[in-house]
Amino acid sequence: MTRRKRNAPKIKWSLFASFTAVTVVIMILLWVLQLLLLRVIYDWTTRSRMQTLIYEIAYEASSDTFSETAEELAQNAETAMTVYRVEGDAFLPVAETEERGSILHLLDSADVRSLYGQAQEVEGIFQERLADALKNNSFPAAPQNERLLSAFVTRTPSGETYFIVLDTAVMPLRSLIYLMQNQLSVVSLILLVIAACIAFLLSRHIASPIERISQKARRMAEGELAIDFSERSYREIEELSEILNQTTEELSKIDRLQKELISNISHDLRTPLTMIVGYAEMMRDVEGENTPENVQVIIDEATRLSVLVNDLLEISRIQGGVSERRDERFSLAGLTGELVERYRRLKENSGFLFAFETDAEALSVSADRQKITQVICNLINNAINYSEDDRRILVRVLKEEGWVRLEVVDHGIGIAKENLEHVWQRYYRGDKNHRRSVAGSGLGLSIVREILDLHKARYGVSSTLGEGSTFWFALPVENETLLIEQV
Ligand code: ADP
Repeated sequence: MTRRKRNAPKIKWSLFASFTAVTVVIMILLWVLQLLLLRVIYDWTTRSRMQTLIYEIAYEASSDTFSETAEELAQNAETAMTVYRVEGDAFLPVAETEERGSILHLLDSADVRSLYGQAQEVEGIFQERLADALKNNSFPAAPQNERLLSAFVTRTPSGETYFIVLDTAVMPLRSLIYLMQNQLSVVSLILLVIAACIAFLLSRHIASPIERISQKARRMAEGELAIDFSERSYREIEELSEILNQTTEELSKIDRLQKELISNISHDLRTPLTMIVGYAEMMRDVEGENTPENVQVIIDEATRLSVLVNDLLEISRIQGGVSERRDERFSLAGLTGELVERYRRLKENSGFLFAFETDAEALSVSADRQKITQVICNLINNAINYSEDDRRILVRVLKEEGWVRLEVVDHGIGIAKENLEHVWQRYYRGDKNHRRSVAGSGLGLSIVREILDLHKARYGVSSTLGEGSTFWFALPVENETLLIEQV
């Protein structure tokens, strides 16, 4: 056997690749969010915080305690502030708070005036980051951190103009970002190592039982059947091993049954052949033995042979999958009635009493008439074969909601409870040392099952050992309208 060259990757590598990919994606996301967005978000937050504060202060402008309230607000917000009252060209400071690093005290009147001009130009609040400006102007006390200046002009109803300037620290993010870069690098490295470890452990946990199972399956393919596939792992793998265990069990059963069948069949073939040859020789050699009875023995044995051969042919056809349905519409009750009548005539002299009951003459089914005939015959044959002294056989065809149900009831040897589920199996024969009188192959019911499955029929058996069995099947009704018309 040549083995296909395999291109699919091993679980181990795909897991490792997936984990690495996920880690890398997470890391990229972290880097982008932390490093790029941090600056933007921080900036935006600081600006909007200052805007809110400035409006809060401006809101107080017409109150008597404006200076105190403004100072309190600015102090609470840890922000440096100067509020000027504007009178003509003069800017008179009316409220002031200091903060470490603040640059407000460095502004001279020209600076204040130009800031005032800018604040009047914009609608709302004028804001400016002052890092570069400070450096360029090389202020003596150029602070380490950047500053955000916010300026706003407000007029009270009584006609006073106030110019509010806020100055707050903008944390220098450069060092923070540098710190975070280092930290993220370490985190990335640790994450990658963890991902690799998890991938390795997981793949070992998943892949090794699968590898073991496939090794055993290979042995099974080579013909070894006594293999235990059991594995302790994930549920799917346990299920797989369970299924494989069932398969080996099933295969060994089939193997055993097949061997049994061959020995049974050879026995079944040999006996009638011996009889035929024996009787024929006797009739040829011994005078007066050429009687109709002896000829009948030869005919009986030949019939037995042909039944066996037919069953074998049918089962091999079904196994080969060439079996297909040739549906036609017919009345199951009508067909069954004819068949029972035929059996009645055939078995007239053997003491069998056939009864046929039906309430479903008008119901027709759509099925393969020939195959259904075979099912009914197989069931009646079994009823005949497994009847002992009580030779009453009842065949019933009954209406059932949407279905028409056929039952074959015998009063024969019955089937033990534990064997009930096996009777449908191919090659299963209840009586291991089967009697000569029964011309079975162990295939009859498995042919029945295959045909009924092909028709999507329901079927079953109930039986009591020593009292008899009822085999039944039900086909879907094809035309209930016909029934209504005819009633
Ligand atoms: P066989 O050729 O042996 O009859 P089947 O597949 O028709 O094979 O039946 C399988 C087994 O089921 C039989 O060997 C018999 O033990 C049991 N069986 C089938 N039908 C009946 C029945 N009507 N009464 C008792 N046992 C039955």
